[in-house]
Amino acid sequence: MVSAVILAAGKGRRIGFKKQFFRVGGKPMLYHSIEVFKRLGIEDIIIVVPKDIPENIKGILKDFKAVEGGKERMDSVYNGVKVAEGEYVLVHDSARANLSIEVAKRVLYEEGECVIPVIRSSDSVIYKGKYVNREETFLVQTPQKVKRDLYIKAYEMSGGKVFPDEGSLISEVLGIRPKFVDGDRWNFKITYRDDLEVFVKMKTENLFAFSYDIHRLVKGIPLYLGGIKVSDELGALGHSDGDVIIHSIVDAALSSLGYGDIGSVFPDDDPRWKGVRSEVFAEITMDILKKEGWRIKNADIVVILSKPRISPLREKIVENLKRLFGLERVSLKAKSGNTFFEDAVQCYAFITLAPLEYPYEV
Ligand code: MG
Repeated sequence: MVSAVILAAGKGRRIGFKKQFFRVGGKPMLYHSIEVFKRLGIEDIIIVVPKDIPENIKGILKDFKAVEGGKERMDSVYNGVKVAEGEYVLVHDSARANLSIEVAKRVLYEEGECVIPVIRSSDSVIYKGKYVNREETFLVQTPQKVKRDLYIKAYEMSGGKVFPDEGSLISEVLGIRPKFVDGDRWNFKITYRDDLEVFVKMKTENLFAFSYDIHRLVKGIPLYLGGIKVSDELGALGHSDGDVIIHSIVDAALSSLGYGDIGSVFPDDDPRWKGVRSEVFAEITMDILKKEGWRIKNADIVVILSKPRISPLREKIVENLKRLFGLERVSLKAKSGNTFFEDAVQCYAFITLAPLEYPYEV
């Protein structure tokens, strides 16, 4: 049996925040490599974490063993290896979040007491003022596989000396030469902000989402569209204020992120939402989006309404939608010459979502 120890206790000093918990493509960075190990059928997964774990990460950790990190990397590994049940342990940096299943497989299936993935440097290397032969130079990655008992033995014999990784500890303390397998260049360690930006671009794509809403029009209540009052005489009947533009955008955004639809998040039998302005839905939706690591970039909207004409208010509605949803572009088309739905207001909304580009969670 093989266990995996994922190191996620770093303080992120060089990048300025705990990047292992930063969400990329809808999941915390550390989860990207957890998924690779799960796909390989590894069930005993140990996450080495810092003392102060963000609240929203605790839910993810409950499915795994979590242990606290130590002073040095090798101490953190030791804490994880101690509770591992496998005969072998794969030790991995959560900062190598772009680990491919192929590299993980090469390490896992190679026989040997210590197996490490390496790549050749494509740049020349200077050591102490002298060029070294690039052909004899390797860059060392993770995951590194090591026999559990061997790691514990080497660690306990290390006599306070600090080793940068498992391969160096095993080879220098026990004299066992690690076996090399091919890593890959994309298994890079996310250390600086530009590494993170590259990873975000690799892992996330723009999302497109679409929705539609319709409400009956009745006399004597106000009509709101995009949060702007459009009429006092003929308004949309609904549990909330019946704002079809906000509802369509919220519905599209929530469903694209797997939250069901607007009715799943704001049920119309929940008294909390009775009579509320739909701007409240917009604000809550924005919080959900932020939590998931997304923002809405553009919205293309078609409103179908016989009267009143909304074109005089178009700019106002567009500006308010930009403010509410942080949109870059909004196009709003109004169709009024419709004789079939005079007693209703309808809206089609097509939105694009983009990943958040900057850390918002420390
Ligand atoms: Mg609605």
